[in-house]
Amino acid sequence: MTTANTATPDAGLDAKTLQRMPYQYPQPKEALPDLVVPNAIPQDERIWVPQGENVWFRPLCLNVSSGYWMNLLKVRKSGVLSRHRHPGPVHAFVLKGRWRYLEHDWVATEGSYAFEPPGETHTLVVDEDVEEMITYFQVNGSMYYVDPWGKNVGFEDVFTKLDMCRKHYKEVGLGEDYALQFVR
Ligand code: FE
Repeated sequence: MTTANTATPDAGLDAKTLQRMPYQYPQPKEALPDLVVPNAIPQDERIWVPQGENVWFRPLCLNVSSGYWMNLLKVRKSGVLSRHRHPGPVHAFVLKGRWRYLEHDWVATEGSYAFEPPGETHTLVVDEDVEEMITYFQVNGSMYYVDPWGKNVGFEDVFTKLDMCRKHYKEVGLGEDYALQFVR
């Protein structure tokens, strides 16, 4: 094992004590502060940022240095949500309800994990009998919205998400800087 600091003043400490000892040195000077979001599924409804009719997102980590974002997507009332291409990978974990893509025969049900590979274009649908869907998405790079033939009709990235947060949180009285706590 390589360590930056070779001082190991552990003489006289028993194995059990050593095992429970926290790391004894400072974290790297340039490391970003960690981020803990209590109530990831918020009690305060204002934290959900409207994204469209009956569609909201809840930011968890808006990573401006690596260009990705982690958020919860919430949908009430069903419908076709969006058709999009993913230039980067997406990871999804379904917390509530279910959804599917018109291009696939699998259904993302409550408790499911899904990986969406870069390059894929698909159309997200929440079926009529689903009252509410909440999914944790990690989206890398951007969402590239398209028509059925792949023609671009819009996009989102971590910066457009941050702008939406700013505007919404100002309107609902949380303050436009409320989302800065999620930025890394
Ligand atoms: Fe997708």
